[in-house]
Amino acid sequence: MMDDAARIAQLRAEIERHAHAYYVLDAPIVPDAEYDRLFRELQAIEAAHPELVSPDSPTLRVGGEPLKSFAQVQHRTPMLSLNNAFTEDEVRAFDARIREASGVAAVEYAVELKFDGLAVNLSYRQGLLVQGATRGDGNTGEDVTENLRTVRSIPLRLPDAADADLEVRGEVLMFTRDFEKLNAQQLASGEKAFVNPRNAAAGSLRQLDSRVTAARHLSFFAYGIGLCEGLSLPGCHDQQMSMVAQWGVPVARLHRKVSGVDGLLDFYREVGELRATLPFAIDGVVYKVNDLALQQQLGFVSRAPRFAIAHKFPAEEAMTTLTDIDIQVGRTGSLTPVARLTPVFVGGVTVTNATLHNEDEIRRKDVRIGDKVVVRRAGDVIPEVARVVLDPSEGERVRSEPFDLFRRLDGKCPVCGSHISRAADEAAWRCTGGLFCPAQRKQALLHFAGRRAMNIDGLGDKLVDQLVDANLVATPADLYRLGMTALVSLERMGEKSALNLLEAIGKSRDTSLARFIFALGIRNVGEATAKDLAQHFGALDKLISADLDRLQQVRDVGPVVAESMIDFFAEAHNLAVIQQLREAGVHWDEGEPQPQRSLPLSGKTFVLTGTLSTLSRQQAQAALEALGARVSGSVSKKTDYVVAGAESGSKLDRALELKVAVLTEDELCSLIGEGA
Ligand code: NAD
Repeated sequence: MMDDAARIAQLRAEIERHAHAYYVLDAPIVPDAEYDRLFRELQAIEAAHPELVSPDSPTLRVGGEPLKSFAQVQHRTPMLSLNNAFTEDEVRAFDARIREASGVAAVEYAVELKFDGLAVNLSYRQGLLVQGATRGDGNTGEDVTENLRTVRSIPLRLPDAADADLEVRGEVLMFTRDFEKLNAQQLASGEKAFVNPRNAAAGSLRQLDSRVTAARHLSFFAYGIGLCEGLSLPGCHDQQMSMVAQWGVPVARLHRKVSGVDGLLDFYREVGELRATLPFAIDGVVYKVNDLALQQQLGFVSRAPRFAIAHKFPAEEAMTTLTDIDIQVGRTGSLTPVARLTPVFVGGVTVTNATLHNEDEIRRKDVRIGDKVVVRRAGDVIPEVARVVLDPSEGERVRSEPFDLFRRLDGKCPVCGSHISRAADEAAWRCTGGLFCPAQRKQALLHFAGRRAMNIDGLGDKLVDQLVDANLVATPADLYRLGMTALVSLERMGEKSALNLLEAIGKSRDTSLARFIFALGIRNVGEATAKDLAQHFGALDKLISADLDRLQQVRDVGPVVAESMIDFFAEAHNLAVIQQLREAGVHWDEGEPQPQRSLPLSGKTFVLTGTLSTLSRQQAQAALEALGARVSGSVSKKTDYVVAGAESGSKLDRALELKVAVLTEDELCSLIGEGA
């Protein structure tokens, strides 16, 4: 076992390496939680062995060395860090220390957000911004005046402080939406994306060319005053902040004055709930003794004030090992790669699985089995693998092969063995066994029974759940084998309802080819396409044996839709279910193929909305279809006309938004009348 001195040396070296990457290079290697873990371990050993503490320990220092390429600024009063509390007990202990030192029973605190950016000092003389500096190592910072001048929210003049020599301290940060935009640009121009908004803000501010900073969108919030001469300031922190806010310095709105430890913890909980909705990143809240005289009396320890503490939120990112990649099959057949992880505590919960989204994402992030990865869980969002940790200190580690989903699955759905495919315009691979795959069973059955498909009255999602869960039904063909005994064995299923259901199933045997095609639930084949296909081919077998070219002769069928059909009918499992359905007596009239003639409204897509007074929706739809139009259920850019009856709602709004032509009922009638 390593002795404490050796462990201290090891931790210091490691912490320094990470601090350099973070503070100096703006490119952290590990997530903050990992750094904090090392830092706390070092603090704990040093606390137990004060004799081993040396003045150069990272636990006694602030930040990192200023970069030599910037002119240096000696801070007139040091810019410190903050001590952290991670638990309620640590907050209670903080409050107890303050009460004891001050003799005050219920201490008044100013409570604020802890912005996740970088600290700067703005010097105003005679009301003019004369210098701006980073925190650096707390005593010496970098002169970034020109760059700070490009930050639009920082006032260049403070007329109200015209007689003063004043330092305003605060945080430069990047709003999430600006960060996302910047990273998209970086990637588009072949440059590296920033790991998080803090590093993007720091990297953007610490630029030698201020034109680069100007092109990035940075923001600023003040949280304190450094030196102040020639001006008398209010005696409380919150009043000082109100004063500078009135002068036009940005101060975040979410802050207040509270009393005692309960007030602190209430604020923590409140902000915790709002965190995911804020437009910028915060990593906690900050509690400060409000009374400046008491602040002074409490003073400082080496690297942080005694009168303030940062209460951190659970880290949203943590480091762990990716032990394997599994593939899950969704209700619609999409295959999602899921990372299996060594359990890790992140975002307040223990996470063992995280999504990897799709194969392109895995490639983009170059995630491989066995890698150390950063897992991210923000708010209630599903945990994801954010990036791989490539620590140069580990040297050349042998990594596993790049992940190949098709090879891993041998081209087969892990649930049902049907072949998998990936459309050119889609990120996801999919199982093609829509009618057969257990993962897609419930969805397929619901769709099959739908009103516009086989129209099996009474077969809704609850009943589908019950039938599948009780193993009574696996594929649509099984519906036609259901009997009374099986049905009444289900919970809440009386004889009467069972009879009704059997009757509805029986009735559905007599259907049309168009309904049947739609009921199969082939990807990208909606009701209107199903009608076109039925009309064009006349018989199911002709459709099944059609090749890509033949399929694309059908109106509105392009390569994507045609490809979906080829995939579907190429899967023997699906053909078997279709055969079983026919054997179970499902039938329709087959006719001669009727390649579509060109009709007056051929190629036009209509959407009907609201109530029509002279005809029903069904009549309007039939009349439009007779003229060659397609009638669709939702408005999109492809819609040519929306017919708006009385009390039209969101579809009409959407039409107006997309600038789709809107017809009144009268206009519709004259269109149908003229065309007929
Ligand atoms: P800190 O973030 O722990 O706390 C001090 C800083 O908080 C101040 O300098 C100021 O910039 C900021 N702050 C935000 N809101 C404030 C407010 N309302 N009032 C006062 N100050 C406010 O700062 P630190 O000591 O620079 O660094 C520690 C942090 O940096 C930790 O979160 C640590 O994980 C991270 N870090 C990470 C790595 C890494 O490798 N990932 C390396 C070094 C540091």
